[in-house]
Amino acid sequence: MGKVSVKEWMDNVIKPEQVEKYKENGKDFIDDGYIHELLLQKKQPDKQEIREIIAKSLELNRLEPEETAALLNCTDEELWHEMYEAGLKIKQKVYGRRIVTFAPLYISNYCVNSCVYCGFRGENEKSVRHRLTMDELREEIKALVKKGHKRLIMVYGEHPTSDVNYIADTLRVAYETKVGSGEIRRSNVNAAPMSVEDLKILKEVGIGTFQVFQETYHHETYKKLHPRGIKADYGWRLYSLHRAMEAGVDDVGIGALFGLYDWKFDVMGLLFHTIDLEKHFGGVGPHTISFPRLEPAVNTPFVEKSSYKIDDKTFKKLVTVIRLSVPYTGMILTARENAQVRNEVVSVGCTQIDAGSNIAIGGYSKDDPDHNRQQFILGDNRSLDEAIRDLAKMGYITSFCTAGYRCGRTGDYFMDIAKKGKVHHLCMPNAVLTFKEYLLDYASDETREIGEKLIEQEIAALPNDLVREKVLEFLERIEAGERDLYL
Ligand code: SAM
Ligand code: SF4
Repeated sequence: MGKVSVKEWMDNVIKPEQVEKYKENGKDFIDDGYIHELLLQKKQPDKQEIREIIAKSLELNRLEPEETAALLNCTDEELWHEMYEAGLKIKQKVYGRRIVTFAPLYISNYCVNSCVYCGFRGENEKSVRHRLTMDELREEIKALVKKGHKRLIMVYGEHPTSDVNYIADTLRVAYETKVGSGEIRRSNVNAAPMSVEDLKILKEVGIGTFQVFQETYHHETYKKLHPRGIKADYGWRLYSLHRAMEAGVDDVGIGALFGLYDWKFDVMGLLFHTIDLEKHFGGVGPHTISFPRLEPAVNTPFVEKSSYKIDDKTFKKLVTVIRLSVPYTGMILTARENAQVRNEVVSVGCTQIDAGSNIAIGGYSKDDPDHNRQQFILGDNRSLDEAIRDLAKMGYITSFCTAGYRCGRTGDYFMDIAKKGKVHHLCMPNAVLTFKEYLLDYASDETREIGEKLIEQEIAALPNDLVREKVLEFLERIEAGERDLYL
């Protein structure tokens, strides 16, 4: 690159004062010893205690760490079934029978870091590197829009060639590129931690949610798995979303990569992260939580060796405990999981999934799932149409709605209505409207038939006559060719 070497660039990324200001007595909010102690203290929770905790979640209250520790340690299958049912009830209460759908878009896989589990790590010589040009990006966006997508998560490795200015340019291109009346209406970003100044630039260009996963909250394991590069700095990453909120990016997404360390510890870490964000930002925690599981990646032997990998049954349990611990937070289930697992787990409380995903760089326009250009290998390769049809068969409306964000229903406003269980009063009608657009413009005949029946059921179930009338009017206008109508 130009005058500045990669090394010089790396030396200037981290701004220690933007980390230290959030610490208490020089310590971050993850106290490893305390988490282990809580998990030990709550080793044998009794039935009564678990049922009281479930009742608290059902009232949409966030749990305290000792309560989450008790749920994690439950060994009674009957109680687990009660928890699965409670997860579904909470989801229905807060979000209704609605799943928000998006596509991941990998933009650049150059990376200065050495995360031992990732196919993009700098020293992986088998990884074919590419950074999309703006023309290539336009082709990717067009291919996605033609399939019916409206929401993206754009993903980048950490490298000076994909710094904040490049990310801002790619966001602009994503919003500008149209195909007929089709367009991307919300672009979330999953990228490396940034400074407050850089995050303000992303806020300016209309970033959706900014996601950074801590991977594992366990300090010592984190250190081992991130031996070099900027990502070796645990604190810079841990407070990245505090900085995003400080910069005015209202919606932030936390996550842990399960399979790196003890799953119970990392669920506790996600909860402590939520609590610390709430503490600093007037009760507003993360907008979404992600819980990817470690997947095989090209030339990445760590994945096979890790002794912390979890089976499908445990995965369902951890998703359930997250749902009960933070009842009002969005939860993202990715296509790393296969279709069977996704169908099973979606009902214990997930609110968002990606579908029709291709994570090879340039993969949508070339329709080429080249494994060497992928960060890891996907488990669910259903098309968007197939995934939507399967969800519809389960009674779920796929929502492409982005109205909430464009009307300023983000951050504390969103949290407030979510905590009161009111999101679906606006969101369910809007989900129906975007689903109708999808059925008319992009769906196969089979999906359209199932989808139209579901829309009829949802309209009949709307609790308010005035809202129903408005939705019926909008549906007629959509049939007549209008688009992007929302309440
Ligand atoms: N480079 C940025 C970072 O590390 O934050 C953002 C992009 S990274 C490509 C997105 C996420 O992919 C990581 O945060 C990590 O959780 C996940 N990931 C990495 N390797 C993985 C693997 N082998 N299986 C599943 N997920 C993986
Ligand atoms: Fe780079 Fe992110 Fe992969 Fe780590 S997880 S090697 S930072 S792309």
